Amino acid sequence: MKKNYQKSMKNLPKDKCEIESCTVTNKFFLHKHHIVERKEIGTSNDSFNCAILCAEHHALTHSGALKIIGVFPSTAPHGRKLVYILDGKPNIPGITESYFQPQTPQMKINTKD
Ligand SMILES: [Zn+2]
Repeated sequence: MKKNYQKSMKNLPKDKCEIESCTVTNKFFLHKHHIVERKEIGTSNDSFNCAILCAEHHALTHSGALKIIGVFPSTAPHGRKLVYILDGKPNIPGITESYFQPQTPQMKINTKD
């Protein structure tokens, strides 16, 4: 398990909260947040389902003030860019929804009487 956890952390920033305006660098206050909760659809610890957030920003995801959209491959450090909406403002203008949406089973609706 420990080996898998370390592997999953491989491409994650370990030195700073991923919210651009945030300056928290103390590792003691950095948390790994699952963008899509593992219990919801059996998501993994893959780095593209994880964000590194300080304790304050982590709490904001659970209060709803911070919505993590997802992670995009990028030339930014660590080869990734976190995309999010903080206090109603997207950090990347125009991207307010994930390109990946968890699929729910389709309900078959009979429209004929
Ligand atoms: Zn932060």
